[in-house]
Amino acid sequence: MSIFGTKGKKSPHQCSNCKSPVHFSPYQDVVACPKCNEEFVTGYESRLRAILEANTNKMPYPKYAVGRAIGYCSAIYGMATHDEDFEPTRIEKLFKSQGGQYNNAPTGDVEHINYGFSGRGLRLRNLNDTRPGFLMTAVTEDRASRARGVSFRQIYIVFRGSRSDEGAKNPMNAGFNEDGWNVDYAANFTGRQDPPWWNTKVKIRRGFLELYKSMSNEVTVELDKLLKRYPDARVIVTGHSLGAALAVVCAHHLQYHRGKSIQGGGPFCFPFCTPRVGDLQFAMDFKARLGDSEFDMPGEPNNGMYKRCMNFCMSNDPVSTQADYGYKHDRSDDLRGRGTPAANRSFVKKAIYGMTKKTDKKIIFYQTPNLYRLGYFSPAAIHQYTKMQQIFLGEALYKT
Ligand SMILES: [Zn+2]
Repeated sequence: MSIFGTKGKKSPHQCSNCKSPVHFSPYQDVVACPKCNEEFVTGYESRLRAILEANTNKMPYPKYAVGRAIGYCSAIYGMATHDEDFEPTRIEKLFKSQGGQYNNAPTGDVEHINYGFSGRGLRLRNLNDTRPGFLMTAVTEDRASRARGVSFRQIYIVFRGSRSDEGAKNPMNAGFNEDGWNVDYAANFTGRQDPPWWNTKVKIRRGFLELYKSMSNEVTVELDKLLKRYPDARVIVTGHSLGAALAVVCAHHLQYHRGKSIQGGGPFCFPFCTPRVGDLQFAMDFKARLGDSEFDMPGEPNNGMYKRCMNFCMSNDPVSTQADYGYKHDRSDDLRGRGTPAANRSFVKKAIYGMTKKTDKKIIFYQTPNLYRLGYFSPAAIHQYTKMQQIFLGEALYKT
């Protein structure tokens, strides 16, 4: 028996092209007729979505690790747009000084490992951005924590979200290539689904996959070096917005090729305000391998077990709640094309641009599992990493 029972059973379905009966399971959202290859949607999408995108905001999460994660996610924007120094000690000082839930926080020494030296881009499209696209840190307990008998090791891999501001808001031109094309939005709007190189049975939004590919080797080389020094470290992959999508892709990749060398069976993944990243098979695979897996997080005040993925979204953020469907005609079809520049528009206009593009109902995206809906926010706060810092740190430490 399926979890959906026999009521509302949709299989078999008569193929609209060759009229033969096509059988499928309630775990399929799109099937192809085995005789003529005609594709159709099964009608199970909304019920699958209800399961995969269920609200999990009763689940505990590691507060200090998540606080560091959103802090780093926010800091990398200022590093890329204004060439700011990375100042991770702000977070540790806050943990030390803040009362309430952060009282007695075990504070850490933060070592900044990598800025993303090679930049990032959609290489085949000649869309390359030299500004920091990710950063990596190693956090170990500091002297104060050690004196209290606390010991922990954490490695953070942090991906930057998209930038399209110009002028004083972005003097370094983060997000753009040298000809003024916006690299980040090319990734956001390349909506076709393709299998990644580590698993041919799942599909990921092509733009995210291309952008991640430009960084994956550098990330892995650096991670291997860090794991040699700190073999028992927890590995935390994170990002905000487009950075969150890249974090989801990276965590899934690391699960496959470094799952055996990372303590706990693979990385933790904490995306903030992520768009939908992959197809049904990707979302189910991510849930099985990371979302349903638990491990502890030394350095937290409570020695609990935590799901290895918690996905933090605002309930009314169009980036996280829209774009269930892939685009019909865009640079997706031309694997070397640069597409239409959608960058120089306001956030709202870009969201509308995305929502009004023609979509293909057979290219379906799902949210990453353990969706933690934070509630409804005002238009000025929607999708903002400053707001996400206020929620998880109590104040916005990085605002640029
Ligand atoms: Zn058919």
